[in-house]
Amino acid sequence: MNKRWTISKINEFVEKNSESKLLSTEFHGFSQKLLFKCACGSNFEKTFTKFKNNHQRKCDVCQPPKESR
Ligand SMILES: [Zn+2]
Repeated sequence: MNKRWTISKINEFVEKNSESKLLSTEFHGFSQKLLFKCACGSNFEKTFTKFKNNHQRKCDVCQPPKESR
């Protein structure tokens, strides 16, 4: 059940569901880190899986990664 994601669909998703912007222009799979621009102006890298499923939609400054211990 793999939904087919393309870079334009991801771009659309990013625009609709976050304040960040997608800078990457190619999508090679869910293990690839995509480059985003946060609303604060910083760039950050994240896989689309984390961005979408874990709601990590901002840079590490605006949304510090949760440490699981
Ligand atoms: Zn930020």
